[in-house]
Amino acid sequence: MATTAHLPFLDGRAHLTIGINTADLGHLADEVHVLEDARAEIVHIDVMDGVFCPMTTVGPPFIKAIKTPLLKDAHLMIVDPIEKVADYVAAGADIITFQVESTRHPHRVLQVLGKAENANDPARGIIRGVALNPGTPVSAIEPLLDELEYVLILAVNPGWGGQKFIESTERRLAEAKELIKRSGRPILLGADGGVTKDNIARVAAMGPNLIVTGSAVFDGKTPAENARYMLEQVRGGATVTT
Ligand code: ZN
Repeated sequence: MATTAHLPFLDGRAHLTIGINTADLGHLADEVHVLEDARAEIVHIDVMDGVFCPMTTVGPPFIKAIKTPLLKDAHLMIVDPIEKVADYVAAGADIITFQVESTRHPHRVLQVLGKAENANDPARGIIRGVALNPGTPVSAIEPLLDELEYVLILAVNPGWGGQKFIESTERRLAEAKELIKRSGRPILLGADGGVTKDNIARVAAMGPNLIVTGSAVFDGKTPAENARYMLEQVRGGATVTT
């Protein structure tokens, strides 16, 4: 029997979910330990299938291979998630977010996830997320708010490298926050894409509960230092406005 997901990150400040795709995947366990040592809370995995977006990355076996007490946050940028989410549940994802553009039946995908049991801890439930591309109206979340725990606003277009944080994201986060507030439900708001050492404090001040950061931590040089820096920025910094 599935349990309603509890939301440890609705506490008035931003939390980081750190993307592992750009880590040294030949030493995956060591790279995950870097995050644990820095007292990170969530590891973010970008799943791309080369169809929904141009890049192809990883899938359920990779998520299963990450052994950690950190929450595993799977961001699915894949077509037809309804047929595939069970594999991500079985792989031990604690947060499963799919793109609203990727299915005709986002509501149904959420219903399926709502019945799923968390493979790491059945008492914890799965945090169900819906992500929006920069070109998708924020109002797309409105009919789904009774069936999700997490709204993720993409600040870049998924699958193309080297993009900068799109400035209209600030307005889109504010719009999403307003819809969430009106729903009266406890729902997390996140921002993903183009978050760097230079803009993280500014993004935190935009009021998301979760901020995804990837290559700013795993830059191929000093991931431990980078993780500490980025975590300090959200821990010491802006509080979430509700
Ligand atoms: Zn992502």
